[in-house]
Amino acid sequence: MTARLLIVDDDTALLEALPRALELRMHGVQIETSDNAADALERIEQTDYDAVVTDIKMPGMDGLAVLREIKRLRPTTPTLLITGHGEHDLAVQALRGGAYDFVQKPIDRDYFVASLERAFELRRLERQVEAQRLALERHARVLEHVGDGIFVVDGDGLVQHWNPAAQAATGMSHDDVLGRPVTEVLPGWQQAGPLVPVATMPGPDGLPPGTLPFEPGGREIWLSISGVAFPDGVVYAFRNVTEERALDELKGEFVATISHELRTPLAAIYGSAQTLRRDDLELDEETSGRLLEVITTESERLTRIASEILLANSLDSGRLVLDSREVDVYALVGEVVEEMRAIFADRDGLRIDLPSANGQPAVVADPDRLRQVLINLIDNAVKYSPEGGRVAVEIEPLPHSVRVAIRDEGIGIPRGEQQRIFGKFYRVDPQLSRGVGGTGLGLYICRELVRRMQGRVWVASNEGEGSTFYVDLPLAESPVPASLV
Ligand code: ADP
Repeated sequence: MTARLLIVDDDTALLEALPRALELRMHGVQIETSDNAADALERIEQTDYDAVVTDIKMPGMDGLAVLREIKRLRPTTPTLLITGHGEHDLAVQALRGGAYDFVQKPIDRDYFVASLERAFELRRLERQVEAQRLALERHARVLEHVGDGIFVVDGDGLVQHWNPAAQAATGMSHDDVLGRPVTEVLPGWQQAGPLVPVATMPGPDGLPPGTLPFEPGGREIWLSISGVAFPDGVVYAFRNVTEERALDELKGEFVATISHELRTPLAAIYGSAQTLRRDDLELDEETSGRLLEVITTESERLTRIASEILLANSLDSGRLVLDSREVDVYALVGEVVEEMRAIFADRDGLRIDLPSANGQPAVVADPDRLRQVLINLIDNAVKYSPEGGRVAVEIEPLPHSVRVAIRDEGIGIPRGEQQRIFGKFYRVDPQLSRGVGGTGLGLYICRELVRRMQGRVWVASNEGEGSTFYVDLPLAESPVPASLV
């Protein structure tokens, strides 16, 4: 690598002789010369020399002033001063002013060359350090921007790095965790830490991450985490997979629920069909009629389950397009209540009440989907009123919307579950819901459909006393609130 040197002196003879002498003794040096301070400083401003040699005494601007300027322009460029014989004071001043070294006239060439070589070496090392510092900064910046949480645990088990993604995933800031034992930062580490796969080298042969529970700040989170060991400790990378895990668990439960939900009607259909096919049995018309009825209703139930699953799926993927038109909500509720009364006609002690009409305003909705929501809510109200009772449907006009309330006197919903029942696949513990079957998709579908109609659905309930589900729908004349668009 070539080193670039600038020699500044008003003595032109020296400016000719010195480069020649240096070129004979040094390899890889590119030498430029300048015979005055102003020109030299201009060049220094433009070129990052590896060293500058300047005479301490020059007309116009002396070497000490030149040194000051060089320090200002290029603080790290080593500057050697040439001093006259016996100018010790000046030399000392030069060193104090930040000169790298000084050489006295007459110049001892060997000393001069040795000093220059040291200056070049210093400069080279400084450049290397600077490049490494920049690379480190760049790496640190890259680390700050990776999506995965990254932290380093040193040999003493203390957390030594904690990137912003780790902060976002756990809610604990860099300052909260740095220098603290990992067992304290991530409670649960004592048990789970040893199970985290730690590779000896990064790369494709690394171990797949483990999914383990931790409890930072008292709440359980599941991390998909793996580590790579290095001489000073272990670098861990993780993703918070709590939600995915919860969803996976729900999916597992869903598969179990659905299999159970499918098996019951299938068994009934199969049993009825088998009985109808038997040659050795003389079935009277009434029995055959009942068996055929079972086959029909249970097939309908199967179809309902299948459509719920399909509908939930198309809601999730955003493929469902809803109609939006003026709907006479009172007439629609009336029709649904009539249908439900007919369906549940054989339920003893059950009454489905409807308010009397008094000129209710129209709402904006998709009539078929609204019908579906109401059927679902009334069906639930009946389903979760195992001891019978009254199911009342009320309609209340509000300034910007119409509220439909479906009130039951059934088992009610524990307070802690009232938000969650609208979640996908969510079912209250079967023991609490007295073993009533279902897919856990009904309310999820209701909430998603009503939301797409710019409305809102929620529940108020007291356990053991009953529940009221409310559906608010925007009035036909009123503009849709901007926040819902
Ligand atoms: P499914 O009824 O198919 O289980 P839903 O999404 O309709 O699914 O309801 C979710 C859960 O909410 C039910 O499992 C039940 O525990 C509870 N739930 C819904 N409606 C009522 C109600 N009217 N009274 C009591 N619990 C209810």
